[in-house]
Amino acid sequence: MKYLDEYRSPAILQGQLRAIRELDTSAVLMEVCGTHTMVISRSGLRPLLTPEVDLVSGPGCPVCVTSERDMGRALALASIEDVILATFGDMVRVPGPQGTLLEASSRGAAVKVVYSPLDAVALARENPDRRVVFLGVGFETTAPTVAAAVLRAREEGLGNFFVLSLHKLIPPALKALVHMEDFSIDGFLLPGHVSVVLGTEAYRFLPREHGIPCVISGFEPADILRAVYLLLRMKAEGKPEVANEYSRAVRPEGNRRARETMCRVFREADAEWRGLGLIPGSGLALREEFADLDAGSWEVEVPEVRERSGCRCGDVLCGRIRPTECPLFARSCTPDSPFGPCMVSSEGTCASYYLYEEEGR
Ligand code: SF4
Repeated sequence: MKYLDEYRSPAILQGQLRAIRELDTSAVLMEVCGTHTMVISRSGLRPLLTPEVDLVSGPGCPVCVTSERDMGRALALASIEDVILATFGDMVRVPGPQGTLLEASSRGAAVKVVYSPLDAVALARENPDRRVVFLGVGFETTAPTVAAAVLRAREEGLGNFFVLSLHKLIPPALKALVHMEDFSIDGFLLPGHVSVVLGTEAYRFLPREHGIPCVISGFEPADILRAVYLLLRMKAEGKPEVANEYSRAVRPEGNRRARETMCRVFREADAEWRGLGLIPGSGLALREEFADLDAGSWEVEVPEVRERSGCRCGDVLCGRIRPTECPLFARSCTPDSPFGPCMVSSEGTCASYYLYEEEGR
């Protein structure tokens, strides 16, 4: 396929669905990318693949996997008088133990929505008498851009730009998932954007050590169906590997320059994931030479985290339940009034079910 239209052509999609059925194999497959989740829901692929394929969502939305405790820290930082907390839009509605950043802002906290980490650097430049803390949330795709912002701030000698790094890494999360007692996934649709940076090698342990087939997928309906077909074929043939369906964007070696920038500024660190708990080496902390920019080391009081009654976001993020199985879904939890983060983000599983899936209405 050469042109975008072909990736959405009904005739091509029908042919792909036929090919999937002809394999006569069933499987539970997990996508680990919020954009995939949204594409699957919006294009109505889930019911078309039933009953052969059960598509479940994993921890692929960075907003959703940010833990309640980390949100508590972000809220505590936002409440400091001379601090401007800069963050991406979705994060202002994620609930933490003290409410949301949006609520904090209505009480007087300086919370600014930015579109890139460099906007936060500009904010620091324009407000020399304030401390600007950028809330760094995202996977391997976002972390290099935050690293570049840190380098820019250092280059400019800005003494009032700081980062709270809540970045997370996808391969350690996949490792944690496959080691869960109740893990029962037959294959992974791997995230396209993250893989542009990582390449293919980082996932080899899945087929090699766990016999799990994996396909790096693009973001058009035809990409997803091709990835599903390849996963089913690998399962049927008993030959698991890492296939790259998104070769028009993902090179086997990934983007070395982006990884180098990321590694220059960050080192691996343990991180807490919503639903998966503390995963060793699954986060990024600022390296020692950038410790003076690290807002994560500031002494702030973070309230104790209590289980939010009825919220099943953790189970949704591990693929244990569908959003519609959460008792709060579409009742006390909707995109206009979200109770959990999976309903906040435009790429959250619950939001995508609510907005696009028949089941969610
Ligand atoms: S419906 Fe709301 S509370 Fe329930 S899992 Fe989804 S986001 Fe969490």
